[in-house]
Amino acid sequence: MYDATNSPPFAVRPSPMQGHGAFATHRIPAGTRLVEYAGERLSPQAAEARYPDVAGERHHTFLFAIDDAVVIDAAVNGNDARWINHSCDPNCDAVIEDARIWIETIRDIQVGEELAYDYAFTLPERHSPAAKQRHPCHCRAASCRGTMLAKKR
Ligand SMILES: [Zn+2]
Repeated sequence: MYDATNSPPFAVRPSPMQGHGAFATHRIPAGTRLVEYAGERLSPQAAEARYPDVAGERHHTFLFAIDDAVVIDAAVNGNDARWINHSCDPNCDAVIEDARIWIETIRDIQVGEELAYDYAFTLPERHSPAAKQRHPCHCRAASCRGTMLAKKR
């Protein structure tokens, strides 16, 4: 069983979902804080300027918006948290606390299971079919939305 005083209980390797993923190296109980989503802190404007959205192209960055004022770019000073994939039926959640992001388990996890949380991206514009295609999901969950974009309220 994972002891939270050790280094994060996962290893990064190629994933069947997409690119690289993070895979549990220990059994991890639900409610375990795994790792901080670390990186450079930017304004949304600076993040937008760094990674302009190109029409029709698949969009992939290591950005994570904390709120309307701060975005974390894990491509700069990030850690292995940036390899944790999106899933529409996740076993982890991203918890924002004191303007920092932590990845925590929401289910008991077995050795070898891929860790994932729901990115639930929201764009300023309408989540049109084209926007969804720029953020495709390949998580293979029965409940897969086909996109990493959140449902807009
Ligand atoms: Zn999915």
